[in-house]
This record gives sequence, structure tokens and C-alpha cells, in this order.
Amino acid sequence: MKAVLVLNCGSSSAKFAVITENNKETILSGLAERLGSEQALLTIKVSGEKIKQAIAHADHEQALLAIVEHLKTYTNFEIVAVGHRVVHGGEYFSASCLVDDEVLLGLQACSQLAPLHNPPNITGIKAAQKAYPDLPQVTVFDTAFHQTLPETSYLYALPYEYYQQYGVRRYGFHGTSYRYINQAIPQYNQGSPVAKVIVAHLGNGASICAIENGRSVATSMGLTPLDGLVQGTRCGQIDPAIVSFLAEKTGKTEAVITDELWKQSGLLGLSGLTNDCRELEEKASEGDANCQRALSVFSSRISETIGAYAAVMNGVDAIVFTGGIGENSDAIRAAVVSRLQYLGFDLDDEKNQHAVRGNDGDISQLNSKPVWVIPTDEEAMIAEDVFSLI
Ligand code: ADP
Repeated sequence: MKAVLVLNCGSSSAKFAVITENNKETILSGLAERLGSEQALLTIKVSGEKIKQAIAHADHEQALLAIVEHLKTYTNFEIVAVGHRVVHGGEYFSASCLVDDEVLLGLQACSQLAPLHNPPNITGIKAAQKAYPDLPQVTVFDTAFHQTLPETSYLYALPYEYYQQYGVRRYGFHGTSYRYINQAIPQYNQGSPVAKVIVAHLGNGASICAIENGRSVATSMGLTPLDGLVQGTRCGQIDPAIVSFLAEKTGKTEAVITDELWKQSGLLGLSGLTNDCRELEEKASEGDANCQRALSVFSSRISETIGAYAAVMNGVDAIVFTGGIGENSDAIRAAVVSRLQYLGFDLDDEKNQHAVRGNDGDISQLNSKPVWVIPTDEEAMIAEDVFSLI
């Protein structure tokens, strides 16, 4: 059976999955973490079991070799290509592509836009080229789906030369997830596409996308994934003057404040407790005011952005919730949609409560426009791209 190895390399980790060509089934998945340290660990999940292997001091390349060695022990599939999740494709890449020298140069050029994310992605590609010198490598970009954004959506009102010289503009992320949802929508709509949809991808990273006639026309993440909604630990949209204001007040450098915007803000910052939505909901139901406040701000910004995107498209026909929170939190969905009645959306409480842990479908009342819960599958989308390119 032909299969694709899907790789997602972070600064000190590599997530992977093996997905088959025929039914897009994930037969095996895993994580190599704490790479570069003595505690480096490879965990492989297969047939409901977890296999752990210490790989002390392994870097990305060594971790990948350990993964490849492990994969060789299976006879029920054959890896025929590797698909790489790449965070930033800048304006160079508007679709997935086969890796060659030119693509690698383009990826390096995009690294200045995502200095934390793209270099480990490139490391992963080079490691995979060494481990599988005869196999095609494919890159799939988080930004690609949003390359259809109109100028009115992607330009920031900064001196225009900053866009021209440095590429400072909105790029948007979670594009692979939005593309998956976009192609899944007809299955939920009796086979027909939907003209104007707003998709909320709510996970630890959270963003929203307005999709008109299958194309992304507005999205909430920006030059980087920091912008837009309140997220697990990221602040989302704030007044940019806050950075220098806080630097002056606290005596911290702007770099330190910026780091806090990425890692100490969002649900974590507001609650002072955790970035984990499920835990926040538990504490909130026990009466914890900080957690209640964090969840209220989170859901309020989502409603606000949906309203804004309805304006961008001059209407909205359907809403989709996806991501760990979107697929599981009936409370967040109820709070968000309670403010969207003026747009024609009303939830059915029972259907909403039932749509958790993989239960998908329409959670709206009969007289409402549809609100779908659709589990996303970025890995399956990557595998599909790989098979169509090779
Ligand atoms: P990532 O952006 O890391 O891929 P996920 O899409 O996995 O994130 O989403 C993780 C978030 O989903 C966490 O905040 C987690 O608490 C939340 N989540 C998962 N299950 C539930 C649930 N049953 N109720 C509320 N939140 C949930």
C-alpha cells in the first residue's frame, strides 16, 4: 500500500504521520520532541499502542533517521513521498509544490518573515532528503490558501514602501485547515458549495477566515500568527502603541514585551492560570471569575470578527467551527452564535451539546442558516496534495 510521510518540524520537535493513498487513513503517527537535549524522545502511536524510544541528543536529522528505521519494520505500507508542513510561503507560494533547488531558495527567502518557524521546516526538508534521497519531497504552506486575499484585505495602512521593500502585509495562516474545510463543505450541504462562509479555526492557535466562492477573502492572522483573535497564549489584535508604552512602564525591552505577547498573553494572560480551554471551562463553571473573564473576551472577539467578515462579503450563508475548541466546546460556540442572531444564525442547544469528540454536522435550528461543526484534518490535506503532485 502506498503511503506518504507527513512531517511537521518545529524548533525542537518533529511531528509525523503516515497516511495511505487509498483511504487517506493515518496508520501511524508520532512525535520526536526535546530534540538537541539529553531527554530527546521519540513516541510512535500505532494500532492504539504507544512506543517510546529515547534518542538522547538527537537533532532533526538523527530523529528522522530513527523514524525511518522504525518505518522500515512495517510491511503493510511503502513510503513513496514526504509532505512537509511549512508555515510561511510569503508571496512566493500560492500552492503546494515539489521541492527543488529553486523552491529551497524561495523557502529561505520566506524565512525572514517567519524566523522562528521556517528554519526548522527547512531543516526537516533537508533531513528528509538525506533520509529518503530517492523520494519526492512536497511542501504545503499554511499561508498559500490566503494568497487570494484582495489588496483591501492584506494591506496594512503603513507607508506603502514597507510592503514593497520588506513584504510587510497580512499573509494569514491555518490555510491548510481552511482548504480542507472548504472542500468538505459540500458534503454537509447536500452536495452543493456555499457562496459565503465564515470558518472559525479555534485551537491553541486561533483564527477566522471568510471564504467567498471557495477563495479566502479575509483572515484574522497577519504578517505573523500573532494577530487577530485571542489565542491560547497569543494576544491577538491589540493597539500597537501598547508595546512601547509597556516597555517604558515596566523597564522591560520591547523584545521582552513582544515575547510576552506571544507566550504569556491570550487565554493564559487573561486568566492568569492556563491556556487550555477545557481547564478554563471547568474552573469557570466552579465560579472562577478570572477564567470566566478570559472565556468571555475570547468568545466576544470571535463574534466581533464574524460580524466584520459578514461586512467584507456583504453577507454570510453559513458558519463553520473547527479546531480543538471549535470541535468540542459547545459553550464557546453558544456564546459566539448568541450574538449572531441578527445575521440569521440560531443554535439548537441539543445538537450543539451533542457535537463534541468527532460528532460533526449542523448544530443550528431549523429556521437558522447552517452552523456546521467540521473536524479539520490538515495531515489528510497534505497527503492529498502530495499524491496529486507526484
Ligand atoms: P493546536 O492549535 O495546538 O492544534 P488544538 O486544535 O488541538 O490546538 O486545540 C487545543 C484546544 O482545544 C485546547 O485549548 C483544549 O483545551 C481545547 N479542547 C479540547 N477538547 C475540549 C473540550 N472538550 N472542551 C473545551 N475545549 C477543548
